[in-house]
Amino acid sequence: MSAGPKRLRVEARGAVQGVGFRPFVFRIATDLGLRGWVRNTPAGADLEVEGDPQALDEFLVRLRSEKPVLAVYHGLEHAVLEPLGLAGFEILESDNEAAPAAVVLPDIATCADCLREVFDPSDRRFRYPFTNCTNCGPRFSIVLSLPWDRPRTTMAGFPLCDDCDREYHDPRDRRFHAQPVACPVCGPRLELLDGGGSSLATGAAALDRACKLIREGRIVALKGLGGFHLVCDARSDEAVRRLRERKRREAKPFAVMAQSLEAARKLCDLTPMEEAALVSPEAPIVLARFRSHGVCDAVAPRNPLLGLMLPYTPLHHMLLRDLDFPVIATSGNLSDEPVCFENDEAVERLSGIADAFLVHDRPIARPVEDSVARVIANRVTLLRRSRGYAPMPVTARRGLRPVLAAGAHQKNAAAIVTPGGVVLGAHIGDLATAASRAALDRAANDLRLLYDVVPEAVACDAHPDYASTIWARSSGLPVETVQHHVAHVLSCMAENDEAPPVLGIAWDGAGLGPDGTIWGGEFLHVRAPREWERVAAFRGFRLPGGERAAREPRRSALGLAFEIYGDDIPKEVAAMFEPGDLRTLLSALRAGVNTPNTSSVGRLFDAVAALCGLRTTSGFEGQAAMELEFAAESDDSGAAYPVPLDGPVLDWAPMIRAILDDLRGGVAVARIAASFHNALAGATVSVARRTGMDRVALSGGCFQNAVLTTAVVTGLESAGFTVIRHQRVPPNDGGIALGQAIAAGSR
Ligand code: ZN
Ligand code: ZN
Ligand code: FE
Repeated sequence: MSAGPKRLRVEARGAVQGVGFRPFVFRIATDLGLRGWVRNTPAGADLEVEGDPQALDEFLVRLRSEKPVLAVYHGLEHAVLEPLGLAGFEILESDNEAAPAAVVLPDIATCADCLREVFDPSDRRFRYPFTNCTNCGPRFSIVLSLPWDRPRTTMAGFPLCDDCDREYHDPRDRRFHAQPVACPVCGPRLELLDGGGSSLATGAAALDRACKLIREGRIVALKGLGGFHLVCDARSDEAVRRLRERKRREAKPFAVMAQSLEAARKLCDLTPMEEAALVSPEAPIVLARFRSHGVCDAVAPRNPLLGLMLPYTPLHHMLLRDLDFPVIATSGNLSDEPVCFENDEAVERLSGIADAFLVHDRPIARPVEDSVARVIANRVTLLRRSRGYAPMPVTARRGLRPVLAAGAHQKNAAAIVTPGGVVLGAHIGDLATAASRAALDRAANDLRLLYDVVPEAVACDAHPDYASTIWARSSGLPVETVQHHVAHVLSCMAENDEAPPVLGIAWDGAGLGPDGTIWGGEFLHVRAPREWERVAAFRGFRLPGGERAAREPRRSALGLAFEIYGDDIPKEVAAMFEPGDLRTLLSALRAGVNTPNTSSVGRLFDAVAALCGLRTTSGFEGQAAMELEFAAESDDSGAAYPVPLDGPVLDWAPMIRAILDDLRGGVAVARIAASFHNALAGATVSVARRTGMDRVALSGGCFQNAVLTTAVVTGLESAGFTVIRHQRVPPNDGGIALGQAIAAGSR
């Protein structure tokens, strides 16, 4: 039950050894009546505390606010787990299984000390955009091989000047053994290039001119930490529209970088949990409640959430301070391609988008895109795990055999089993283009070489046409396929330190089932990593046009209507199509041509959004479902439609009929949307009760929906079930590689 005790796991990375950190943890834990342990690790310290959920929240706050003066966090990743019944509080022996040299750390946002220096006119690093120290700066994005040592980073080409050399060798200095240490004398430099790649200015003049261009409404491609951003004035409708046009990105929201936390508060209503995520050393993009002013509407059209981040390198800090207004900072890529991270490549590929390029001469070893977090049902949940988090292991689970995992087709990321746990690589993206497929090949080889792992097999999806599956088959290694939704469930279990058996609820847009149909509304009894059974699913329906349905919610509505009414399509659905198109689609449905069967909850969301008149075609996958989620927020009636469980089949037909009745009866869309969400939550409880299992794991892209997740968690917990859900690993396909690695890695 929700009110019962929980266990909080924290992985404190950074300067936490020899500074009184463990006694400090012991003190606040015992103060709050928590049981647990703490121990040093090669990357910092790990700890677990167990007790009342409120005390755990309080613990986390005090861990940040009362830390020993000399302790510096480079990361404070945490997850709420199920209790183990820990007793007392222990300071354990160090965990040295992974040698310090074998730890690759994530990139860390600029620390307060460095920031002070950058804006101190008397400091020798005044306005130096590559300032960093032992407590901050690039790591994963510059490491070429291990151990972590300057000659094996992309800083190898920058010999230290005398001053930097002195700092580097002085044990009392903040830059003692800071591998990327640099200064204006010896370090990387800025350069501004025009749209064709010719030099316009260097150093301070380059930044000044870039700022001028942005102020004038131009688009500047900016080389940051792990790749290029496309930057423009977020207040300027004209600039943002031009960026949309050039990037061929019609509707998908752009992320915004605000000058400071104060500026961020003006753009969004931030909760304390969201603020803590924004200012954390990981510094992800946080999806927060948009206040709809401060930036123009074109930034996130019709979207109540804004993807917000704060500056995380000195260059970003200087740029934003000089401009003093929020900017768009979106991935520097062509649609569907991976992010650009090399200067020449960026000029070549982005010349049609950017008016100028603000680059530097510190090479990026591998692309590391911004991470994305959202607070879902009171927990920070990563929707994209990349900068700031990659490549820390996502589970400390040991004893798996070494395997590589190729991930899914969309939101691709690869994973590898290392002696220190399973590592999920940086976000790659959708594998729709040759460039992104090449990026997967590079990323997978990179993980293998970096961790010096000789994989015994490569795991991939059971879908034969996924580019990741094709890549796995061409790798020369033995291939193990893992069913998509099983991988989802296993990823959720693994990051929560849990092992099967479990009732896995995997709801998403699409994944191939072993029966050849498209699954996506699944209830799986997972007994062991490779032993599972489908215990229930939503009733199937046909998707006219197959994959095109993901971009056209009305096609899902038509498929549902055809299943219920045959040729007698309700007028509300018929009206979504041109008469000729409708005839064509209906004859395809009748003949069963290119109309795959699906049990997808994602498509069910699309269909209901279309019925409600929210959206018949969408600019990006999931847009219609998001709009249905937002519509549902304003209704708290608790009303729910019926979704009877008929054997192993959840039948949505009575619900769709009721929705049509409600629409005709003039019931508010908010009420319909909320009743739909509540109906799905009710369905999880009826299936869970029938299976008689007491633990339920939630995974799949549908659980990025906060209204749905809240309703499902509340429903299941109040019915007495223990709910396991995503926190550190995305519920979407970005987490698939972890589940694949667990399945194939289990002996
Ligand atoms: Zn620093
Ligand atoms: Zn120097
Ligand atoms: Fe999926």
